Amino acid sequence: MFKSILVPIDLSDTDLAKPAIATAVSLSQASNGTIRLLNVLQMTPVMLAEYLPADFGAQQRQSSEEALAIVASEVGIEPSRMSSVVRQGSIYHEILEEAQAIKADLIVMASHRPAMKTYFLGSNAGHVVRYAKCSVLVVRH
Ligand code: ADP
Repeated sequence: MFKSILVPIDLSDTDLAKPAIATAVSLSQASNGTIRLLNVLQMTPVMLAEYLPADFGAQQRQSSEEALAIVASEVGIEPSRMSSVVRQGSIYHEILEEAQAIKADLIVMASHRPAMKTYFLGSNAGHVVRYAKCSVLVVRH
């Protein structure tokens, strides 16, 4: 049923990502679809930039690509149905952009239990649910 599934991953919280990936895998098996893993690197605040090495951005991107490749290799579906990408920017914005770019028909993302602060601040999952043009499945831990 779902041919193109996007799974955004916070690489600093892979325990949270595992149930989302497992859910995406079982949904994609049903339709022989593809899974795209996405990690978003947030922009370095300008104030900090002068204290960081010139190649900090490139190093960060390379580490994320390597980490995503490891996660992808452990997913256990054929490599031809699996891909990964690193983007830079605001998390929910880049999730929505990537979903459009790959014509995703489903975004699967994990979220912690709702907290009082999210009523005021909003969350990545909340923004994606609100603005995505495709279906979104939020997997609770
Ligand atoms: P919570 O407030 O419970 O932490 P969020 O609404 O922020 O939940 O959503 C967490 C989800 O957002 C993660 O499971 C992941 O799908 C996505 N996410 C968070 N950080 C990133 C990131 N850096 N890159 C890609 N996706 C991310």
